[in-house]
Amino acid sequence: MNEPICPWMQYPRGNFPLCEEAVCEWIRQPANTFSNVGFFILGAFLIYLYSVKRSSHGLGFGICTILIGTASFIAHATGAKLFSFIDFAAIFSAFSLYAAKNMIYTNTVKIKNVLAVVALFFIPAVLLLFYIPALREIIFATFVIGLLVWESKILKAQSKPFLIRSNQKALGVFLFGAICLALDSSRLVCDPHNHFFQLHAVWHLSCALSIFFLARHLDQHRP
Ligand SMILES: [Zn+2]
Repeated sequence: MNEPICPWMQYPRGNFPLCEEAVCEWIRQPANTFSNVGFFILGAFLIYLYSVKRSSHGLGFGICTILIGTASFIAHATGAKLFSFIDFAAIFSAFSLYAAKNMIYTNTVKIKNVLAVVALFFIPAVLLLFYIPALREIIFATFVIGLLVWESKILKAQSKPFLIRSNQKALGVFLFGAICLALDSSRLVCDPHNHFFQLHAVWHLSCALSIFFLARHLDQHRP
């Protein structure tokens, strides 16, 4: 008996653990794929805020948010290893931008060099991800912890509490999303046949909202 040939199966498979079962369609994981719409909406809204309301952090984070949404959409639609790599690389672009903005704010570098400084964080992270994919979660965690420590130092220097309201929103939503991500990937809460709702999809929506709140936080506390 012939096995059905499903779209994208000729490409090497990504290995990120996910609850949603892949269907034999061009969109392999419908719930996980379509939930990336949150990145498009909030990314576009950030760019709107930049152009109309002078949100100085809206443009960069808006572009990163749309990049993440696009990469994640293709990664979940195809399940291919290459796009899974690009998905993580897109996430690292937002982390690198945040780190570069911190360096500019602390006068370590000048604003005209922003793209070069983004590359300083982004290129080594992506090279590590490409050559040693097993380090994927470690690079992710290093970025998150490093940026949290950096943020706490900057807020402390401004005599503001770390959990100031705008930061609470960004971190709270991110933490909620991370719990959903863990419950989904460990399959503790999992219905693989549900193609409308998945906790990994909630992680996508939480991430999009968290980046949005982060950009607004920086608008308030990086004058
Ligand atoms: Zn995802």
